[in-house]
Order: sequence, then C-alpha cells, then structure tokens
Amino acid sequence: MTDIIRLLPDSVANQIAAGEVIQRPASVLKELVENAIDAGATTVDIYLKDAGRTQIQVIDNGCGMSETDARLAFERHATSKIRESKDLFSIHTLGFRGEALASIAAVANVQVRSKRSCDELGTQIDISATQVTGQTPVQCPEGTIFTVSDLFFNVTVRRKFLKSDSIELNHLLTEFKRIALSCENVSFSITSIKTENSNKTEIYRLPVSNLRQRIINLFGVSIKQHLLNIEVETTLVKIRGFITKPEYAKKKYADQFFFANGRFINHPYLRKAVEQAYTGILPPEYKPGYFIYFEVPPDSIDINIHPTKTEVKFEDDQAIFQILVSSVKQVLGKFNVVPPIDFEMNHSIQIPVLRSDTKINMPQITVDHNYNPFETSDDYPQKQYERGQLQNWESLYTGFENENRQPDLYKDTSVEENDPMATSVNAHFQLKGKYILTSVKSGLMMIDQKRAHERILFEQYLIQMIHHSSASQQSLFPDTVEISPDEMSLWLELQNDFTALGFDIRPSAGLKVNIHGTPADSDNKNPEALFRKLLDDFRHTESDLFESRHEQLAALLAQESAIRYNQTLTAEEINHIVEKLFTCATPNYSPTGKPVMHILSMDEIERWF
Ligand code: ADP
Ligand code: MG
Repeated sequence: MTDIIRLLPDSVANQIAAGEVIQRPASVLKELVENAIDAGATTVDIYLKDAGRTQIQVIDNGCGMSETDARLAFERHATSKIRESKDLFSIHTLGFRGEALASIAAVANVQVRSKRSCDELGTQIDISATQVTGQTPVQCPEGTIFTVSDLFFNVTVRRKFLKSDSIELNHLLTEFKRIALSCENVSFSITSIKTENSNKTEIYRLPVSNLRQRIINLFGVSIKQHLLNIEVETTLVKIRGFITKPEYAKKKYADQFFFANGRFINHPYLRKAVEQAYTGILPPEYKPGYFIYFEVPPDSIDINIHPTKTEVKFEDDQAIFQILVSSVKQVLGKFNVVPPIDFEMNHSIQIPVLRSDTKINMPQITVDHNYNPFETSDDYPQKQYERGQLQNWESLYTGFENENRQPDLYKDTSVEENDPMATSVNAHFQLKGKYILTSVKSGLMMIDQKRAHERILFEQYLIQMIHHSSASQQSLFPDTVEISPDEMSLWLELQNDFTALGFDIRPSAGLKVNIHGTPADSDNKNPEALFRKLLDDFRHTESDLFESRHEQLAALLAQESAIRYNQTLTAEEINHIVEKLFTCATPNYSPTGKPVMHILSMDEIERWF
C-alpha cells in the first residue's frame, strides 16, 4: 500500500489560513490600510466598489516596495516587521504576522503597484487565487496601490455569506473609523462606488488634525459639546482621550473605542470599568461613548492572542481597571456631570507618577453647599430618557380601521361563553410589567406586551406605506440635525423609505437635514433622537430578516414606538393590545421573528394539581 499523507499545495493551505484572517471585505480593508500605515504613509485613499464586494482599492504614499519585496510580500509568513521571536514582545507596527497578503491573494484577484522613492520604475504584480499571473515594471507614483477584486470568487460559500451592502459597508466604516482614530496624523479619504449606476460618494475626507478634531470629523459636529478630556499618567499606564457626557450615551451601538499602544483593541473587562464609572448617572441599559488610549510598555502587553489582533492582554488588567474607574469618575465629577460628593471614590486607587521634581500639594476637598441629595433637578440626565410612551396612547389606534377580520387564531382564543370573567376587562391581567395574561379556551395565554405592540404597529405601518396613507405629524419649528458623513450617505439612500413611513425630512446645507415631520404614530417628542436611532439601527440590523427596506424600517420604527417593558398598562390599554393583536396577519411573531405569545395548556395546569 502507498503512503497517504500529502502536503497541501500552497493555494489550498493559504485558502484555509485565509478563513481565519479574511472574513469579509472589512477584514481586507483593515489589513491593507494597516500595511499602508506601517509603511509610513501620510495619505491613504480608499475606494470601495459595491461595499467592497466588487473591489477594494487602497492607495498610499508610503515607502513602497522593491520588485523582490513586492513579490515576496504575498508569501505566507513573509514580513519585514519582525525578525525573531523576541521581537514579538516589543511590537511597534500594526502588522507582524506576515499572513494578511498571502490570505487575501488566496481568495481574490489582487493587483499591486508599488514604487520606492529610490527607484525609477515601479513594479506591478497580478495574483489570482495565489497564482502569480503577471509581473511587469510600470510607471506609478511613489507608494503602493493595492487593488483587491472579486473577493471570495473561488470560495462560493463565503461569498454567499456576505451580508447586504449596507451591513458590509457598515463593517467597512467601523474598521475605517478604528484606524482613522488611531492615526490623526494621517489624512484619509474613503469613497463608495456603486457599479450598477456608477454612483460615487465620498463618505469621508479627513485632513491631518488633532484627536478632538478627528473625532468630530468622524462622528459629526454634534459630538463636540459632549467630549470630556481624560488624561492620567501612572507608573503602570498612561491614559488619554475623551469620554462623553451622559447625554451622548446610546442604548445599543455606543461609540466605544479603546486603543492600546496605537492599536484598536476590544477589551470587555475594561469596558466594564468605564461603564461602572457611569453607574448611577445613566439608566442601566444605556452605554457611554468613549475614545480611550492606553500607553503601556510594549513588553507588558500581549497582542498575540488572536489572529485578527483586537484581543489583547495587559500584564496588570486589574490595576488598570481600578485606575480607569477612578479617572473616569474624576472627569465626570470635574465637569459636574455627577454630584461632587461621591463616596465610592474612596474605594478606588489612584497611583500617581512621582518624579523627584514633583511638588506634592495638599489634597483639596470641594464641597458643593448647594447640593441637596433629596432634590431631583430637571437637568438630571436620567430625565431625558424617561419618555412617557403612553401619553398618546389613544392616538396609536385612531385611523387604524378594524376590518372585522377575525383570523382563526382569534376564534381559538375567544373565551368560553360560560366564563363570566371573559367579557369583562378583568379577563386580562398584567404580570410584572411585561406580560399580559388572559384566559383562553385551551388554557392560559401569556402575551409579551412589547413584542405584541411591535407587531401591531409594524403591520399598521406597512399598510400605510402600501396605501401611501402614512400620516405625518408636522412640527411648528423643524429640527435641524447635523449628522455624520456616513449617516448622511445612508440617509440619502433611504430617503424614499423614510418618506413613505411618514417622515418629512429635507436636506439642508452641508451635513444638515431639517426634520419637518415624523410619523404620526411614533414617539415624536424627540424627532432628532428618533431619526438618529433609526439610522443607527438600520446599519446594524440583518436585512436578511426582511423582504424589503420598507419592511426593515417599519420594523425598526415599530420597535422604537412600541410600549416598553415595566410600563403599567390600564385595563383599556391591555384590551386594545389583545384586540388589535388578533386582527394582525401574523400575531404569533414580532417583526424580528421573536415569539409574541405562549399558551399554557389546561392539561399542563391540571397536572400540577
Ligand atoms: P505583515 O503586515 O504582518 O508584515 P502582510 O502580509 O500584511 O504582513 O505584508 C507583508 C509585507 O509586505 C509587509 O511586512 C511589508 O513589508 C510589505 N507591505 C505590505 N503592504 C505594503 C505597503 N502598502 N507598502 C509597503 N510595504 C508593504
Ligand atoms: Mg499587514
């Protein structure tokens, strides 16, 4: 018998390795831009065709590569950034594994054009699925141009798993923001191109600037008034950057960025530290935004844990945790975001850096004599989030005609005639501010109040969209909203869908829009917040769940406008929900596919007794 073990050809090995490093267009962008930064570029221009699916191009003015290096760069474990294992413990570049280009070239068509300042001519190399298909000298500017086309053309499964363009673009922009936030001294531009109509949108153009300005350029002018500077230096770690005022907190997708030695990192443990410092000034479900930069000695941090390199381990996580909690609290206190007497401060450690020339001052105590712990002031941040959803309760149902439609399910749930409680209001009962309980023929029905209301509103919105009958509540004075460049490009795309839902939003100068009206049945006390929330949610929701963008937006608006949990409902409101729910086409599921109700059968109940 012959031996059966064989070495895999490079093309297969690289394709397997690529699975680790290259998951979607955003991973390609990250690797190419990081390489450009490592090459000392001061200008990086990015072009994305069809959210990177068709093409990703990165143009830099960095050091360029020699002919041999350009060829070698695509070999696995080929890197100019480390030489021996001890270098792993003092990494100063973003890349170091030498696997990115090999991985990208295994699953796409790649062209590189590169020229060093010392060379007359540059080199062009074409590679398709690891095979070099061409290598020629070319005229090209100093620096490097990488063009990656038809990502995953040879890995059908992966290509199929790519999400909608809006989700992929969001991933790309998330990656872009991380890098742009870590190099304020590099100018960037990113342009999105749609091949079907050759539409070209420059989403960002970021000049070289300081960190504060970079954040404003990325997140829109509205963030400006919310940024609080944080700066701490201890023997263990240097922390700088910005945290945001509680008003900038978000329920989901808060803008939270940590960087360690210039590299974006994910650090759930330290995230908890920041969130802990906000305890008491934010409702529990709200997350603060922050841009925090840690500087530690390179040998006290291990960035080698994961190939995508966002997970890191600090030597002394726990001490950094404590320092972070106390410094965030201090900043919040200093800007009077929290009442100045904060007893919890006593537990936190502060490790000052002592130099021989440091003058040590007596600690100062500031007492706010006007502070009255029993007084709730109007501008206490929490107030902002308590939106009385129920004030317009009746209006939620006006205009929605009951067509006397009683689907089968309704019959199922109608109560027996000899049940005297059945027809009275008392037949429904609210449990723990979350469920509506009601007696039905087959047992006890439990309805999730929020999901039920989402379903009701969702179908109502859809009907209105189809019949072009969405009512808009016009405001006397339009709200002018300044949005970020990426929000603007998304809004332009969704404009018609917003209008169909009952929004009346008109473009204004620059990155501003005017909100003249919001859907009549929505939470319209804060049109700006609602608009921002919808844009944000849209970017982050899987569109696969929905048949159209109309549906997706209707579902998101329903989620925003539905009654919340822990909201005590009157008998009348409960009745409304139960009644309306069973005139819905699909009462059993919420618009995002979660179960709305469950019946505890009589059999089950009787088994207990
Ligand atoms: P790593 O970045 O981990 O070293 P890569 O596969 O990303 O590995 O890149 C391999 C090598 O190719 C780099 O070490 C660098 O020498 C070279 N290289 C890649 N991109 C560029 C670029 N834009 N400009 C100059 N050199 C580059
Ligand atoms: Mg690299």
